[in-house]
Amino acid sequence: MDPGTARSWVEAFAAAVLDRADELTALDAAIGDADHGTNLARGAAAVLSALAGDASDDAVLTTTGMTLVTSVGGAAGPLYGTFFLRAGASLRGGADLADVFAAGVDGVAARGRAAVGDATMIDALVPARDALTDALRAGLPEERGVADAVAAARSGSDATLPLVPRLGRASYLGERAVGHRDPGAASAVLLVEALAAAAGGAGGGTAGGAA
Ligand code: ADP
Ligand code: MG
Repeated sequence: MDPGTARSWVEAFAAAVLDRADELTALDAAIGDADHGTNLARGAAAVLSALAGDASDDAVLTTTGMTLVTSVGGAAGPLYGTFFLRAGASLRGGADLADVFAAGVDGVAARGRAAVGDATMIDALVPARDALTDALRAGLPEERGVADAVAAARSGSDATLPLVPRLGRASYLGERAVGHRDPGAASAVLLVEALAAAAGGAGGGTAGGAA
């Protein structure tokens, strides 16, 4: 992945989180403690100010991860922080777009001990990882890979609605959480849309009812 793409990705994700914070918080109000949007918005603001003082694109993902881990409480801060720390390490190793994204997703799954079907951000991230990897390994252009990843993330987020959550605060509700979108899956769609926007593919931006 080109380090300039990494900076664009983080900036687009931060902008989307700030734009959609109220929606993310409303989702968390239904099945959690109504702080997912405010948690991530605090992190996004901290990341943007950290990046403004850092001219090097090479360190953008790592700086983002460290900032999220230290500035965002709740479950999602450390998980997204882990995502960017692991993605940043992969970027420094010269990995391509698919492998950088996969490193982040695998870090979240390991840290949260989450699998698809638990109704977390992993339900959006893993299908996106697989779609992006499959497209690039098939020799398709990055634009196509990130567009496929956005579609997969949106489907994965939609798929959390009928689930009984097995992890995080929503799991306390049991059956009463059925019919609600997982807030972290909704924010994960924004992360994938931001990657698509940064890599120049279709499916980026804020349209499409992610949250
Ligand atoms: P908190 O639940 O501490 O209030 P947030 O509201 O910011 O934190 O984030 C909630 C989101 O975190 C959930 O919607 C879910 O997607 C995600 N999440 C919670 N626990 C886990 C976990 N163990 N693995 C992956 N994601 C998780
Ligand atoms: Mg919460």
